[in-house]
Amino acid sequence: MLANNSYLITAARVVVTMDDDRRELPDQDVRIANGVIAEIGPNLDPQGAEVIRAEGCVVTPGLVNTHHHLYQTLTRAVPGGQDALLFGWLKTLYPIWSRFGPEEMHVSALVGLAELALSGCTLTSDHLYLYPNGARLDDTIAAAGQIGMRFHPTRGAMSIGESDGGLPPDMLVEKEADILEDAIRLIDLHHDAAEGSMVRVGVAPCSPFSVSRDLMREAALLARDKSVMLHTHLAENDEDIAYSLATFGCRPGQYAEELGWVGEDVWHAHCVKLDPTEIDLFARTKTGVAHCPCSNCRLGSGIAPVRAMRDAGVPVGLGVDGSASNDAGNLILEARQAMLLQRVAQGADAMSAREALEIATRGGAEILGRHDCGQIAVGKRADLALWDVSGIEAAGSWDPVALLLAGPTTVRDLFVEGRQIVRDGQVTTLDLRAVMARQNALARALAE
Ligand SMILES: [Zn+2]
Repeated sequence: MLANNSYLITAARVVVTMDDDRRELPDQDVRIANGVIAEIGPNLDPQGAEVIRAEGCVVTPGLVNTHHHLYQTLTRAVPGGQDALLFGWLKTLYPIWSRFGPEEMHVSALVGLAELALSGCTLTSDHLYLYPNGARLDDTIAAAGQIGMRFHPTRGAMSIGESDGGLPPDMLVEKEADILEDAIRLIDLHHDAAEGSMVRVGVAPCSPFSVSRDLMREAALLARDKSVMLHTHLAENDEDIAYSLATFGCRPGQYAEELGWVGEDVWHAHCVKLDPTEIDLFARTKTGVAHCPCSNCRLGSGIAPVRAMRDAGVPVGLGVDGSASNDAGNLILEARQAMLLQRVAQGADAMSAREALEIATRGGAEILGRHDCGQIAVGKRADLALWDVSGIEAAGSWDPVALLLAGPTTVRDLFVEGRQIVRDGQVTTLDLRAVMARQNALARALAE
């Protein structure tokens, strides 16, 4: 149904392909049909397709967000958590999150997904690890279907509450058998492994400090049995490393390896504190990393060794992380932050604008196992972002492809699976004003 949309994007100032040769093609057209990129070249025949004029626009692959907690858009800038480190921040927010239900999950996901779409994102993962008051992962999957975004939701979980020495309150943890059973239900109901898939479900215990060793191992076995991916938080900050050493007697990388949590079908969020041995492990096993620079800055977690990871061959993508630890959800700005943060650590030549854009597009698609996405090439899925570089942000720029140095922070148009979900800076698939009004009402009710 989505697949019948066909468009001809004409006379783009530059098409940044992110293909195998990383070609940048000036003055090109891109024809999309049946959900895929059908043709790239100058002066193409529309063949009946709707023409989208793109003079003054840079066309890039849609950006890919590899780590998020969409529900947290309802708890942005909560006063008690604004200036806390990770564990203190979590303890401030857990009691608020425990009051969420299905509507909070659904509306906050709509807001988070719309914010991502406006910032150029066409494919996002999400990590939902608490299910109070009847909330389900299905609530967020419905939201992604409404907006039309390609979605990789993960069935997160917490099972060790405060009374067992864990961080979360007991009311937010679940029985491990129930967690695995629900993961099976969700995979069987929603997961689509086919090329062009709009929904792929992953298995994602929240973190080593909120579930048992058994659940980590069982989750890995389940994911392999079902051929789905695995995701969690790892080595986020010094407290996280100290917890691992004190509780498991080893560093997070060793813990992950022992439990089957390395490989091409695994990606870990943050990895700020990976040491050289762990970077080597990730590179050898092609284990992915979701780098979340704004969250790492916001929570004071540190600077992830992304330069060393990339040089070693670790697959790296970008994540905005939850909106409560960012507190924004703008993916193109996240890419800029990734570029800047490596420069803080390593100098001005540590990461170019082009490399950061590559991590944000092709890099993210690769760590999510989406070799059908993340580049503009004939036969790849038609996930495209159009950036208008004729505005004030890029006025005077000598290099339109260096969007992350001087360029817009929202898209003009966005296509997912060949469907236009942003047009002239507006989401076409939602009444966003009404969604935001509901979101603000829900936030006010939670604050009472
Ligand atoms: Zn996170």
